[in-house]
Amino acid sequence: MIEENVKSVLAQIPERNPFGEKITIVAAVKFQSVENINRAISAGIKDIGDNHVQEFREKFDGITGSPRRHFIGHLQTNKVKYLIGKVNLYHSVDRLNLAEELSKRSAGAGIISDILLQVNIGSELSKGGFGLEEVESAYKQIKQLPALKIRGLMAMLPLSDDEQLLKELAKKMRCEYDKLRAQDSNFEYLSMGMSGDWQICVEAGGNMIRLGTSLFGARQYK
Ligand SMILES: *Cc1c(COP(=O)(O)O)cnc(C)c1O
Repeated sequence: MIEENVKSVLAQIPERNPFGEKITIVAAVKFQSVENINRAISAGIKDIGDNHVQEFREKFDGITGSPRRHFIGHLQTNKVKYLIGKVNLYHSVDRLNLAEELSKRSAGAGIISDILLQVNIGSELSKGGFGLEEVESAYKQIKQLPALKIRGLMAMLPLSDDEQLLKELAKKMRCEYDKLRAQDSNFEYLSMGMSGDWQICVEAGGNMIRLGTSLFGARQYK
């Protein structure tokens, strides 16, 4: 089942997006067992993304195949210390004090951590992230922090059946990404797209998609 899903998704993902960039699939592994995660990895998944620090820690030693590790969920400042040095890319940097803590802890460990700035593209109260109009000033402030490297932007589109709206929002994200990328050669990733909307996102220029349901099936919440 998981093997087939992974193969089917891999077959559907274009090698490159309309912007000529490689598309990275990050498996969203919240609530998945270590066995299922390892199955996805054996089937060809090379990047996995966690939402919860406790789950990340509990499963850490059981994960095989050395995938790249992503943190994609809301991150509390007091839990940053458990992740430092173990996460290749933090997608959900949605406020200045989180960036400060990540930089401080990374500096303490003698490393530089790669991050994305999360943008609340749908201006949703239920979601974190900088407003589109705030991103540039947040970028400038976070850019000053010594132990972080900003690699791009991340967004979650709103849940909506309005494809036109979703396309517009995804294009706005690509526009903002291009604007910052023009001044920062570290920019490489636009993380946007989940199981329900990744096609729209890749067409608009997303180059990193985070898939849970389409790889693992519907989540079993405990
Ligand atoms: C769960 C989750 C996903 C994947 O969601 P699906 O709809 O199951 O693909 C992607 N991004 C984030 C931040 C998530 O929490």
